[in-house]
Amino acid sequence: MRRESPYPMVPIDEAQRIITAHVTPLGVEEMDVLRNAADGRVLAEDIYATDPLPDVPKAAVDGYALRSADGVAPRRVIAEVTAGAAPGLRVEPGTAVRVMTGAPVPEGADAVVMVEHTEERDGALTVRRALSAGDNIHTVGQDIAAGQCVLTRGTTLGAAEIGLLATVGRVRVQVYRRPIVAVLATGDEVYEPDGEVFPGGVRDSNRYALMAAVREAGCEAVSLGIARDDLSVQRAAILDAVDRADVLLTSGGVSMGTRDLIKPLLAELGTVHFGRIAFKPGKPTTFATIDRPGRAAPLLVFGLPGFPVSSLVSFEVFVRPALRRLQGDARPERPRVRVTLRDPIYPSADRPEYQRAIVGWAEGRLVARSTGRQGSSRLLSMLGANAMLVVPPGTQPFPAGAELEALLTGPLAPFDE
Ligand code: AMP
Ligand code: MG
Repeated sequence: MRRESPYPMVPIDEAQRIITAHVTPLGVEEMDVLRNAADGRVLAEDIYATDPLPDVPKAAVDGYALRSADGVAPRRVIAEVTAGAAPGLRVEPGTAVRVMTGAPVPEGADAVVMVEHTEERDGALTVRRALSAGDNIHTVGQDIAAGQCVLTRGTTLGAAEIGLLATVGRVRVQVYRRPIVAVLATGDEVYEPDGEVFPGGVRDSNRYALMAAVREAGCEAVSLGIARDDLSVQRAAILDAVDRADVLLTSGGVSMGTRDLIKPLLAELGTVHFGRIAFKPGKPTTFATIDRPGRAAPLLVFGLPGFPVSSLVSFEVFVRPALRRLQGDARPERPRVRVTLRDPIYPSADRPEYQRAIVGWAEGRLVARSTGRQGSSRLLSMLGANAMLVVPPGTQPFPAGAELEALLTGPLAPFDE
């Protein structure tokens, strides 16, 4: 058994730079984004509106289109125009046209009075207050100007974006391909969660947790099952990913034990770019690429640690931004904020540590409470966490009230205590 890892310990930011240098967005495909549940896809083109919205002046309320210059003088109602109808008439002085919300405002009219401010009897209209030109009229291009760029490349499609695409009539658009991410668990002690577990065994939580995290990051997750700690079994699994995935995540087998085979296999099949990070939890996290003949992009491989918290935190800090970049996301990083500690935080002596926390808004600032014991096998420390505190190494605790930087991994939590 080796006593010393042959891999130098790289700082977190250097590890992130190395990964980013190997990531280029995957290909682009054109799809009907409205009818293919394309939410979560990232736009690969800028979207322009060809026409203004509205395209003609429209009534913003139900009421009467009239000439503001007529003041409060009574008018004769000459017609009714509903939404979707063609006006085809003119409002002359002393006349008005009954209009519904969204109806085109007839020529000659320069204001719409709300029905609530009028009375109509036998075709005679009285208005209770004078109007100014433009009142209650949605002018041409008020919402979207002709030729305006409404969405930019790198935007993730959500409800508003899909609505905008439909509004400007862009149904087929260029989006980035979803990365295919294969996930492999390793370990002789690792078992399917719903099967028999022998004494000393553990249920495979990593593969399922990582696949969920992969999907949350907008990718397609493919399970490669559990590989025994055997070189030929694990080699075959890695080669399977070379064939059919853009990215491979492995769990376990990256530490210093005699049954930790992932690093030597990655060195054999490809290039290991780093094999240790000055980072807690997840020091042995490894990044490698495997070139493949006939294909433009190499397989990106992240060897994640076996302990469940280490694997998920390493995923968040190193893998997720890469997966977002692969699909062209213009903002691949989680937001960074400054938070005030509600509980004291105990740092690790030698490495920066990402500690799980629950962040909410309290008394005018972002406040973080710890999720409790931060052991790398205690998955419960991830539960409810919407942030990771970036805790610099040291020997003194950060007291309650101190400020730290945090990565926001989810929506702010309600804070009621
Ligand atoms: P390793 O890095 O392979 O030595 O794994 C370290 C520890 O992580 C093991 O002793 C297990 O307790 C745990 N572990 C490894 N793989 C998994 C997995 N797929 N799911 C849950 N725990 C795991
Ligand atoms: Mg193992």
